[in-house]
Amino acid sequence: MNTLLNIMLVVAAFFFMEFMAWFTHKFVMHGFLWVLHKDHHIRDGRKVEWNDVFALIFALPSILLIYFGVINPDSILLSLGIGIALYGFCYFMFHDVYVHQRVKILSKFSNRYLRATIRAHKAHHHPNAHYNYGFLVAPLKYYKEEFRKKKPD
Ligand SMILES: [Zn+2]
Ligand SMILES: [Zn+2]
Repeated sequence: MNTLLNIMLVVAAFFFMEFMAWFTHKFVMHGFLWVLHKDHHIRDGRKVEWNDVFALIFALPSILLIYFGVINPDSILLSLGIGIALYGFCYFMFHDVYVHQRVKILSKFSNRYLRATIRAHKAHHHPNAHYNYGFLVAPLKYYKEEFRKKKPD
């Protein structure tokens, strides 16, 4: 078993998922499945959103890869499954817990990366905004602005 290869696969799957999330967000969630994403943009304080269906859909390949990776056993499938699961965890902690405070923790924790990425996502939530479809990676200008500041605000 090549451990380095497996680690690289985990990392690759993680970043591929950011691409998939961006792609799906831009072309599917704001496209023909807007009906499921709408209640994330027009927020009325409900505990469970239709938008959560996307998290379940994205969890499925991860569950299947981990399952078949374990029963076969196949370290490539397992690594890809773990990478997707890790992305799902980070996505949830960042987007749902940290940005939207659906669970009221982590609100005092902050750094330049988080502030820049949050600003980008908050901008996505402005009515009529058609930009910033990524989640954990924002357009470069947000990081440039944030890292140029002498003191964080
Ligand atoms: Zn959106
Ligand atoms: Zn959001």
